[in-house]
Amino acid sequence: MNFNGNLALLGPKALESWLAERGHPRFRARQLLRWIWKEGVLDPDAMSNLSKDFRHLLKTDARIVLPKILHAQESEDGTIKYLLQLEDGKTVETVWIPREDQGRVTVCVSTQVGCKMGCTFCLTAQQRVERDLEAGEIAGQLLALPNRKKITNVVLMGMGEPFDNYDNVMGALDLMTDGEALFLGTRRITVSTSGLVPAMRRFLSESKCRLAVSLNAPNDEIRNLIMPINKAYPLADLLGALREVKDKRFLVTFEYILIRDVNDRPEHARELVKLVKGIPCKMNLLLYNENPQIPFKRPEWERVDAFQKILNDSGMLSFIRTSRGRDISAACGQLASEHKRRDNSFKPPRLSPTLLEGVAAGE
Ligand code: SF4
Repeated sequence: MNFNGNLALLGPKALESWLAERGHPRFRARQLLRWIWKEGVLDPDAMSNLSKDFRHLLKTDARIVLPKILHAQESEDGTIKYLLQLEDGKTVETVWIPREDQGRVTVCVSTQVGCKMGCTFCLTAQQRVERDLEAGEIAGQLLALPNRKKITNVVLMGMGEPFDNYDNVMGALDLMTDGEALFLGTRRITVSTSGLVPAMRRFLSESKCRLAVSLNAPNDEIRNLIMPINKAYPLADLLGALREVKDKRFLVTFEYILIRDVNDRPEHARELVKLVKGIPCKMNLLLYNENPQIPFKRPEWERVDAFQKILNDSGMLSFIRTSRGRDISAACGQLASEHKRRDNSFKPPRLSPTLLEGVAAGE
């Protein structure tokens, strides 16, 4: 962890350690946690139950700074995409996704500035990997939003691969679930991975939060083309780790982005059914969100229907997730890319020749 004096970067355990090193008991950390994360109070002078000396320490030896909103774009469907600025000026995206019909507000948070996983359909992958977010910068995206008390669900599915920043993600989950902090139920938080298998195994043994796996292909050949992580951890390793889970309540969510002529054919659906057989799961089918920077296309509706029918006929639980916020380019990385383009620091992506051949050949 790169602590620089900003106490809002720290998870609960790190905050306790910082105070213990200065001779303060654990209950002080709990009080401070409550002021910052439950009450949203950042000024030590307004923390009325803290002693004068303790408030003086907070003002002289530390500071409390949250991410702040730099830009917001609201979609016709109520989705709001925020560009948040961190204390060092770096920016990340956070998306507010209301479902009034279901009484839910889900917020999608980022875990890194940029991402090194290199998924070829993703704009975030094209941005330089700048740094990991600290625990408080991940959870702080929730605190920075207006109407934060309406948040019912959180997905760690924004910019970055959560398990490439494991310790900070676990600290952020502590902040989100701690009764003195944001106090969300573990079953309302989903961590999504592209398939970093060793860290995923660790997560499965250490956390009660939900897991989503970004699958996106029915075989290694296609997955190698669109998700380079698959070369390090092929499908047999990834799915093998899920098959080992003994907990009877375990249910993994697979995300499958349907991309025209890449992974959306009936034979791909049949292969997918066989691939995940025996794993308690639900399959979220997402339609690729086109953007001018990447030459992939959304599939035709007929293909999507046919694909889902094959899954449903096999008895699999599958859902077609309609894209929220399409009119504001709410796919991962798009707002940050636009911001960088205005800054002239964005480099348009180049797809590898192998991938383009694969797409052209309809592999
Ligand atoms: S899809 Fe996720 S893991 Fe893949 S490059 Fe984009 S942010 Fe990273």
